[in-house]
Amino acid sequence: MKVIEHINQSKGTLFSIEILPPLKGKGIQSIYEGIDPLMEFNPAFIDVTYHREEYIYKKRDGGYLEKISIRKRPGTVAICAAVMNKYKIDAVPHIICGGFTVEETENALIDLHFLGIDNVLAIRGDSIKTEPTFVPEPNGHHYAIDLVKQVTRMNKGKYAHDDLIEPAPTSFCIGVSGYPEKHFEAPNMTSDLKHLKSKVEAGAEYIVTQMFFDNKKYFEFVEKCRAAEINIPIIPGLKILSTKKQATVLPKLFHIDIPQELLEEVEKCKTDTEVRQAGVEWCIQQSKELIKAKVPCLHFYTMGTSESTKKVASKVF
Ligand SMILES: Cc1cc2nc3c(=O)[nH]c(=O)nc-3n(C[C@H](O)[C@H](O)[C@H](O)COP(=O)(O)OP(=O)(O)OC[C@H]3O[C@@H](n4cnc5c(N)ncnc54)[C@H](O)[C@@H]3O)c2cc1C
Repeated sequence: MKVIEHINQSKGTLFSIEILPPLKGKGIQSIYEGIDPLMEFNPAFIDVTYHREEYIYKKRDGGYLEKISIRKRPGTVAICAAVMNKYKIDAVPHIICGGFTVEETENALIDLHFLGIDNVLAIRGDSIKTEPTFVPEPNGHHYAIDLVKQVTRMNKGKYAHDDLIEPAPTSFCIGVSGYPEKHFEAPNMTSDLKHLKSKVEAGAEYIVTQMFFDNKKYFEFVEKCRAAEINIPIIPGLKILSTKKQATVLPKLFHIDIPQELLEEVEKCKTDTEVRQAGVEWCIQQSKELIKAKVPCLHFYTMGTSESTKKVASKVF
């Protein structure tokens, strides 16, 4: 079932989670261990992130540098198939522009379609560590909107090559990302919203937000979207703060603010166990307020661990 159907058919706020593939070499069991404790809350869908190839340089004998490609977290498509098979829950693979040519994206979408996956979250991806800005593949997509357009075209049976005989249309529900605190590259919010609106006009059916810790930012963002005539559901993305370090790392990585009140709570904590408790309490308050405001779904960035999410979900669902 499509995410948009889940939203349209639901009478209340849905629960969903986002997981990331395990580090290469680790088994799929860790994925199941992260999902099993949350099954009692009936996740409507499970997102699985995509992690592109990176390059590292290794010094070899004789002093020369060898360029080596590594993918730390492969397995997105297989995890989606395994999740659907084991839990009968809809999986939402993330598909990205970075590292893919148009044709490779097409082939990946065919794989997803054949596996019976009805949903994708179409995003650009970040630049790899060795590149200062995002560089698309030659014949790849530069922005998420180009990816949205490709999926929309395939949903109409239009593939990259127009010499196919009676090409079958795919049927993907397309989600995209949105940034209550603005995407870090956007010159201003108006510009960011203009591009978000283009993604909607190109076929996106719902938006999932970047994590935020201040609901005011989400509510203002929704207001601005509605004023800009972006009228599709906007799913809030929630992360539960779990270590003291995250109070400085998350703003750096995700270009978001930690509210002063939460920061003061975290600074009072002596151990990370105490921080986790403070993070859970904060997220419970955020979740209650969002549910009261009738948001379509609470989407938890679990990052592979279920303990804190379970504590929050048990208080609000
Ligand atoms: C819910 C969510 C899930 C994510 N999952 C993943 C994941 O699985 N894997 C991963 O690698 N990353 C993931 N990310 C991170 C994401 O890839 C980065 O935030 C990335 O920098 C932007 O992706 P986007 O799809 O929002 O980009 P875009 O929508 O392409 O926007 C990128 C920037 O370009 C601007 N822009 C857009 N279109 C145009 C245009 N036509 N002309 C000029 N400027 C334009 C926008 O304003 C924005 O500043 C996720 C982010 C979110 C919020």
